[in-house]
Amino acid sequence: MTIKLGCIADDYTGASDLANTLTRAGLRTVQTIGVPADNLALPEVDAVVVSLKSRSIEAHLAVARSREAERWLRGRGADHVLFKICSTFDSTDAGNIGPVMDALRADCGETILLVTPAFPETGRTVYQGHLFVGHVPLNESPLKDHPLNPMHDANLVRVLSRQSRTKIGLVDLATVVRGPEAVRDRLAELAGQGVGAAIIDAVFDADLTTVGTVALTHRVSVGASGIGLGLARALVESGGANTGTADAADGAPVGGPAACLAGSCSQATLGQIAHAEKIMPVLRLDPEQLVAGKDEVHRALAWAGECLGDGPVLIASSAAPDQVAAVQARHGRDAAGHAIEQAMADIAEGLVQTGVRRLVVAGGETSGAVVDRLKIPAFLVGPEIAPGVPVLRTVGTTSEMLLALKSGNFGGPHFFLDALGLMR
Ligand code: ADP
Repeated sequence: MTIKLGCIADDYTGASDLANTLTRAGLRTVQTIGVPADNLALPEVDAVVVSLKSRSIEAHLAVARSREAERWLRGRGADHVLFKICSTFDSTDAGNIGPVMDALRADCGETILLVTPAFPETGRTVYQGHLFVGHVPLNESPLKDHPLNPMHDANLVRVLSRQSRTKIGLVDLATVVRGPEAVRDRLAELAGQGVGAAIIDAVFDADLTTVGTVALTHRVSVGASGIGLGLARALVESGGANTGTADAADGAPVGGPAACLAGSCSQATLGQIAHAEKIMPVLRLDPEQLVAGKDEVHRALAWAGECLGDGPVLIASSAAPDQVAAVQARHGRDAAGHAIEQAMADIAEGLVQTGVRRLVVAGGETSGAVVDRLKIPAFLVGPEIAPGVPVLRTVGTTSEMLLALKSGNFGGPHFFLDALGLMR
């Protein structure tokens, strides 16, 4: 099997966002958790997104892991590799965007490559090389106060110049609107001046199509889900995508018992749990007991064992803000959060051991703990349950499962029912 587009994402949620974007654009897409083993058997897909956690680690480690991912993707036939970064260009002068870009460029012998975090539909636009977040330049956006990588400069040519060993140039909007040929001419001109990477402006959705068309003829590019969308469009347009149907629900039904787990304490999730209570058995866990030991996990699994034969169940640690604050005050925020995440992972593991094959998880960190515990190497991305929340079909597990992993605030009031309806 030959993949058409390889992607390396510098964090898990960014990877999911990109995988979902590519799927919506018509590419059959798998998201892997880390660099997969060489023997991972992939279904027929157009794109693979390798999820790393390399955004805020030391630059040399980010380079090593990204190179490992690149080797895996090229080994599976990927002609083009997109290094997926955050659409707010999260990085510091030490990296990691510049060092990883330099390494990937050197590995494939690319003369000049395109870089843009633009994604107009989510309010990220780049004009004259300056990144805007909604109406304001990056350095006036909330990113100026980011705890790990405060962004104090909206001029990405300057930002990337401080991180990279190569000269950085600009392909401006006036060139982009003249189309792919004009962009190629400008890139040739910049390359002649010794420029190795160019920030490319994109303000309107149509600009992404031009960017993607040109980027696809190179070996590597750098950007957020917007350039991913442009690359996907270019691939579909050129007839390079081999499936036409990007739908994990196409596969055989998985069947068997279904369960929902909620560890998010967001307003949206609390409302979704309240709604679920009207239509399925719901067990509300005692967070103090979850932190104290395994008894609460055993109680939950015994309860689920009695109910699952009759239909889906929901098990929730979620609580209102005052109750969460009380638990955090007693145990510390991180310790309480970690203990509860691990308890939810214990419950997920126990449910799968008793035969559950369809699992909905609410909460970003909670989902991460569950996926790690279940040792799921990869997912085929399916139809969207709610914006940004697709059905996921496991790849490389002994028995196939369907999952939905939801960040706290995502989804409408009937989310759990909506998810189960698409997970057959
Ligand atoms: P979200 O996507 O809404 O941020 P997360 O799962 O990422 O949800 O984060 C929720 C955090 O709250 C997790 O660390 C989880 O373990 C913790 N948590 C869940 N229930 C409770 C509770 N009742 N009291 C305190 N912390 C909780």
